[in-house]
Formats: sequence, C-alpha cells, structure tokens
Amino acid sequence: MLLAIILSTLAMVAIVALRYLAVSGAFAAITARVRPGYHAGLRPQIRREIGWSLVSAAIYGVPAGIVGFGWDRFGWTRIYTDWNAYPLWYLPLSVLIYLFAHDTWFYWTHRWMHQPHAFRIAHAVHHASRPPTAWAAMSFHPIEALSGAVVVPVLVFLVPIHVAMLGTVLAVMTVMGVTNHMGWEMFPRWLVRSPIGGWIITASHHQLHHERYKCNYGLYFRFWDRLCRTDRGLSESFPR
Ligand SMILES: [Zn+2]
Ligand SMILES: [Zn+2]
Repeated sequence: MLLAIILSTLAMVAIVALRYLAVSGAFAAITARVRPGYHAGLRPQIRREIGWSLVSAAIYGVPAGIVGFGWDRFGWTRIYTDWNAYPLWYLPLSVLIYLFAHDTWFYWTHRWMHQPHAFRIAHAVHHASRPPTAWAAMSFHPIEALSGAVVVPVLVFLVPIHVAMLGTVLAVMTVMGVTNHMGWEMFPRWLVRSPIGGWIITASHHQLHHERYKCNYGLYFRFWDRLCRTDRGLSESFPR
C-alpha cells in the first residue's frame, strides 16, 4: 500500500509540474508575442521563478496524491461522479464555494505573511519577482507553498463537489495564478472597469500588490480587500 501511495504522489507531482510548465509556458509565449521585449533582461529571475515553482509543485503533489489515493481506494472525500447526486444548480455553486473558501484562506494567510518576520521567512521569495512574469505563478517559499497545498485536499472532505467541477476549480486556479502575474491585462477594459470587475481579481489588481505590497491581498475576489479596506484599486503601470 505504501508503494501505491508513493506512486500516486509522484503522479500528482508530475501532473502539477507539467500543468505549471504548460500553462506558464503558454502565457509566457503569448506575452512575448503581444509585448515583445517586455520581460527581456529577466532571465535570471525567470530561472529562479521556475526553480521555486517546481519545488512548489512537489509540495502541492503530496497532499493531493495521498487524498487522490484515498479517494480511489477507500472512497474518501465528498468528490462525486454521478451528475444527479445533487441538483444541477449546485454544480456552479460548488465551484463558487471552493473559490471563495480558497480566497478567504489565501487573503488571511497572505496578510499574515506580510508581517515583517513572516515576510522575510515565507513570502519574500514570491516578491523577489519584480516585476512578476507568467513563470511566477507558483514561485513560493516551501512554507507558503504548503499553506496553499492543503486547501483543496481539506475542502474535498468538507464540501461535496462533482469531479468535473473540481477540475474547473483547478483550471481557474491555474490560469488565474499565471495570468495575474504576467504583467498585462488580458481581460477587456469594459469588464475590468465594470461593476463585476470591481469584485474579481485580474492582473491589473494583483500587479498593484507586487508594486505596493501592503494592499490587494486577495486571490480571486476583491471581497475581503474591500471589506477590510485593503483594496487600492488597479495598477496604472502597464498599458491596457
Ligand atoms: Zn503574486
Ligand atoms: Zn504578497
């Protein structure tokens, strides 16, 4: 059984690492195309971003691999595969619950990591990306990576979710993690500057966190930032 757990974990590490390389690689390539030379001269930083991100992939893969094994072997977790197990309206709602729970956890742990002592130990690695690039999506110190790695493996024990909706959550997590760091806004101005844009986080919002540090701590939604008055709006530094 130990061997099966190890194999499941290694498979999960490989999946997370390849997913990172594929998605960050794709958006880095798009960035090079739409903004030629924009990240020229950042090669040493990008090498560090990739190195830290691959370490993070290994950390993310461990709890995911163990829980995945338990789901497959023992039916652990509340992940379900029958489309009719819950009403259809629950499908999008479950995605929102997962994203909001992750966002809440991220906001408060992120704010804590901006305390001077915690920052030096756990969060300076992420802010060493100046400006961040698409490769910085998982560029975290192992402590920060661990704080993120436990979220979904815990949630699947608490909140029922269809396996396809879990895939949707992971896709949103990956794509937003990458695009929020790539240094330009891919969403249209009418959306970003709209009332909906006032509640969701895209690159324009997270870029300002990397410029000013003590604001815009959220991950997907501006809810906590607005409620706690840490929202400073959108970055004006890059062209839209
Ligand atoms: Zn960041
Ligand atoms: Zn930060």
